[in-house]
Amino acid sequence: PNLFSEKRVRPKPTPSAPSSVSPDDPVRACFVILVRNNELGGIVSTISQIESTFNNKFKYPYIFLNDEEFTPEFVDTTSALTTSVTRYGKLDQQMWGYPSYINQTRAAENRHELAKQGVPYADSESYRHMCRFQSGFFFRHPLLDEFDYYWRLEPDVDYYCQLDYDVFKYMRNNGKKYGFNIAFREFMATVPSLWGTIEAFKRDYPEVMEHLPVKEDSLWKFVTNDNGETYNSCHFWTNFEIASLAVWRSNDYLKLFSYLDRSGGFFYERWGDAPVHSIAATMLLRKDEFHFFNDVGYRHTAYQHCPVEEEFRSKCRCDPQNNFDYDPGLSCYSTFKAALN
Ligand code: GDP
Ligand code: MN
Repeated sequence: PNLFSEKRVRPKPTPSAPSSVSPDDPVRACFVILVRNNELGGIVSTISQIESTFNNKFKYPYIFLNDEEFTPEFVDTTSALTTSVTRYGKLDQQMWGYPSYINQTRAAENRHELAKQGVPYADSESYRHMCRFQSGFFFRHPLLDEFDYYWRLEPDVDYYCQLDYDVFKYMRNNGKKYGFNIAFREFMATVPSLWGTIEAFKRDYPEVMEHLPVKEDSLWKFVTNDNGETYNSCHFWTNFEIASLAVWRSNDYLKLFSYLDRSGGFFYERWGDAPVHSIAATMLLRKDEFHFFNDVGYRHTAYQHCPVEEEFRSKCRCDPQNNFDYDPGLSCYSTFKAALN
């Protein structure tokens, strides 16, 4: 069984931007930041860099989200970093909590089993809520209702390069829906049943599959090396993500997410939002709707993308010798490039 069927009528190509929009029209876009109060120092660092490389020119608002109430100190300190709008939201039980059908005893047992395999965050309950929230809920938070595009930020990351153009206008005006800058391999122990569950969704929802891009227009080779039999573990790192909210708000994605959620894999396994977003995006989008943000030099934990071309040496404060793109064991950038053809 293949994730992407061969024989389907080619859907009508969508225009690169709605014709009623002119390129200079403002984009309804924001930064979205899920963060804890005790990560204040880390998010101050990130926002300071975002302001000085990009947002002091473009003034996009910041939306902060948390499963707990933000402290006055957090609100005061972060809002003082920018002249842009800052808003603060708390997640409800539906967005951050166990659905009624989850067997929490089974979830706990599975966490302990996975921990024995040395997988990162194997025994963390909150990490699972976080991944489920980032997979299925952030785009439905009321504070995001007025926006069409977002840039996800995290504490303690680095943004290395000056950006002198509006990345959101670039996305909209060029018909781009999903932007990334690091593509990584997943620990397969965290997602043993994810691919099979997506295949089951495809069988159960033929009416959804019917209007998705045909195989040759999609990026399906990014996520499978064996013609759809198995997941190859490649995913876009979602800790940096510039994307269209419409992708996740679509009925197709909402159906897929709720199917995945029902299966329990966010809790019984440890499904990351990165493989979920990535596999879904390869199903829902055409390959020309993806964008590799080469010009966004970026570090998360020990891995960084630093653009190597000469033109970036005056714009970026990273060392191009330290660039993850072609890391032989861990990077899926080459798989992405190959899948574009
Ligand atoms: P990693 O990038 O996969 O190692 O995971 P992180 O620990 O960096 O978490 C991803 C994002 O979710 C970061 O922005 C964190 O600040 C945020 N996050 C993770 N766990 C929690 C949590 O329990 N509560 C809140 N409010 N944010 C969280
Ligand atoms: Mn992180």
